Amino acid sequence: MIVPSYINLHRSGELAHSVEQIYELQSPCRLCPRACGVMRPRGERGACGGGDCAKIFRCSPHFGEEPPITGSGGSGTIFFSGCTLNCDYCQNYTFSQGGAGREVACEELAQMFLTLAGQGCHNINLVTPTHFIPQILSALTLAVERGFDLPLVYNTSGYESLGTLRLLEGCVDVYLADMRYGSSSASARYSGAHDYPEINREAIREMWRQTGPLVTNAAGVALRGLIVRHLVLPQDMAGTREVARFLREEISPDLAVSLMSQYIPCHKAVGDPILGRRITEEEYGEAREIFAAYGFTNGWIQEWSGEGGDSAFLGARMEGNIHCG
Ligand code: SF4
Repeated sequence: MIVPSYINLHRSGELAHSVEQIYELQSPCRLCPRACGVMRPRGERGACGGGDCAKIFRCSPHFGEEPPITGSGGSGTIFFSGCTLNCDYCQNYTFSQGGAGREVACEELAQMFLTLAGQGCHNINLVTPTHFIPQILSALTLAVERGFDLPLVYNTSGYESLGTLRLLEGCVDVYLADMRYGSSSASARYSGAHDYPEINREAIREMWRQTGPLVTNAAGVALRGLIVRHLVLPQDMAGTREVARFLREEISPDLAVSLMSQYIPCHKAVGDPILGRRITEEEYGEAREIFAAYGFTNGWIQEWSGEGGDSAFLGARMEGNIHCG
């Protein structure tokens, strides 16, 4: 049985120290690579839209994540409002960019952790958490004091600053991180972040250093590790070959990879000459071949579901997850 390492950090007082340090990073705010420099405790807001309180759109058990995250009891998912990346094609744009959601105090956020645990969820899945890390760690502290001990899943676009990630060491059990682009021209065009590939690679290296390969319990539920998601985009705007090459050469063939076919034009991508359509079966087949050619055997591949199909993880074509009794 692996106990989340934040439990020991809490006992030693290091968790409280991390919370203090991470609050310093939001005034002036440099929590993410945008480094806006706004004073959030004074009510100023930067590119993510985040203020001094966490803002939440939805909190519920979720059954659509990768199998070791979902398990049989579901993933205790908390969708945060706002985002540090702001992609043109974001399927969650109503709350990631549109402001939908409700501000909550850390006490209430801690209660959400406990409620989801009480509902039988296997983990707390923090979706787009970067701009609210201080509030999340405060809530974690409160929840741990009341017996909370589920793995924390950090579900991110992968646009993360190294300094912030280092303060998360020992607090996060599972990183569920995107690699969205292989080229800066595509990331600049569709997410307003020319530096995404470079920043993202450095972040993935750090996440791997902290957690290493995916470790699950006997039931196949994730306890610790890194899972990298790659969403295939039309006309290879995601740079699939570059992403696979980086992961193979600079991370590990043991890495758990989640290849995703679910792209649907949303938000500003509707009508876009390149991103205004779903991917074709041929495009997805090519992406699968690339990952296979680089020797990845660990992870999941969504079935290509065609026009209007669903986006569940229908297939588990890569096998060999690491189990610990
Ligand atoms: S977290 Fe938000 S306010 Fe802070 S640097 Fe990033 S985008 Fe700016």
